[in-house]
Amino acid sequence: FKNELKKFKDVPTKTKDGQEKLIEANIGSPTDVEGVIENGGEGIGLFRSEFLYMDNDHFPTEEEQFVAYKNVMESMNNKVVIIRTLDIGGDKKLSYFEFPHEMNPFLGYRAIRFSLDKKEIFRDQIRALLRASVFGQLGIMFPMIATVDEFKDAKAFVETCKKELDQENIAYDKNVQVGMMVEIPAAAVNADQFAKYADFFSIGTNDLVQYSMAADRMSEKVSYLYQPTNPSLLRLIKMTIDGGHAQNRWVGMCGEMAGDVQSIPLLMGLGLDAFSMSASSMLRARQLMSQIDMKDAEKLANKALQLETDEQVLALVDDFLNNLK
Ligand code: PEP
Ligand code: MG
Repeated sequence: FKNELKKFKDVPTKTKDGQEKLIEANIGSPTDVEGVIENGGEGIGLFRSEFLYMDNDHFPTEEEQFVAYKNVMESMNNKVVIIRTLDIGGDKKLSYFEFPHEMNPFLGYRAIRFSLDKKEIFRDQIRALLRASVFGQLGIMFPMIATVDEFKDAKAFVETCKKELDQENIAYDKNVQVGMMVEIPAAAVNADQFAKYADFFSIGTNDLVQYSMAADRMSEKVSYLYQPTNPSLLRLIKMTIDGGHAQNRWVGMCGEMAGDVQSIPLLMGLGLDAFSMSASSMLRARQLMSQIDMKDAEKLANKALQLETDEQVLALVDDFLNNLK
C-alpha cells in the first residue's frame, strides 16, 4: 500500500481530467520541512509561526525569526511558502507575557488583534519575513481577520516596514504576496470585499467550524456539533472560494478538513485551488484527486449544498467514493 502511494511522490497534483491542484503541508517548525519533502509536498500552505514564540523564553528577535524563516524558504527550494503571522492567545499562551484575563479567550485578544495592538512585536516579525522573502516564494498570511479594516491596517503596516527596509538598503522581494486566513464567518460571508485587497485566501476550517457552530473545538461535550461537512459550512466555503475567484485570487485551505478523504471530493467540486495538510496525508490525497473527474466533483458539491444535514452529506460522499473503485 505504501509503495502504491510512492508513485505519487514526485508528480504534480492533477485531477482525473488533468486539472492542476496544489497539495501543500502545514508545519510548526523548520525541522518539519524534511517530512514535507519526503512526502512530495508542492509547498508549505501554513507555517504556524507561533511555535517560535511558544518554545522560547522571550519574544523572538527579528534576527532569530529571520534565520528560522530563511531556513524554511531555502529548504523548500523556491516552492511557495506561506508563513502565518503570530496566532497567539486563545489556548496558546506565552510564559513571558501575561495576557489579560478574559471570559472567552477564543473570542478575545488574540492573533491579528494582538499584533495590530503591539506594533513593536509585529514589526520584528514583518521585517524578518520581508528579509527572508528573497530566498524563495513567500506569502505572508494574517490570522483571525474579521473586518476589511483589519486586513487593510495589517497590509499597510507591511508597506511601512518595506519603506523602512528601503531606507536601510535591505533587500526584500517586491512581489511578496500578502493574504489572509478565512476562519471567522464574517470574513467568509464578505469574501468578495476582502478579495479586493488580499492576494490570496486560506480557509481555516478548524476555527471556521468552531465559530460557525458556536462549539468550542476542544470540548468533547459539544463535539457532535463539530461538522466541517455540514451544508452550512459548505456554503461558507463556497462563498469564500467564489469571492476570491471573482477577483482572480487563489483560494486554499489549511484547516484539517483539507486532508480529509471524505471532504476532498467536495472541496474539489467547490473549486478549491490548494489543499494544505499534515505531511502524512499528502500522498493519499494526491492519489485520490487523480481518481476524480472535476465534472463529477462539481455535481457532487452542488448536490451536497442542497442537503439538510451533515449525515446526508457524508452518506452522499461515501457513495461517491465507493463508486470510484
Ligand atoms: C484553522 O483554524 O483552521 C487553522 C488552520 O489554524 P489553527 O488550527 O492554527 O487555529
Ligand atoms: Mg485558526
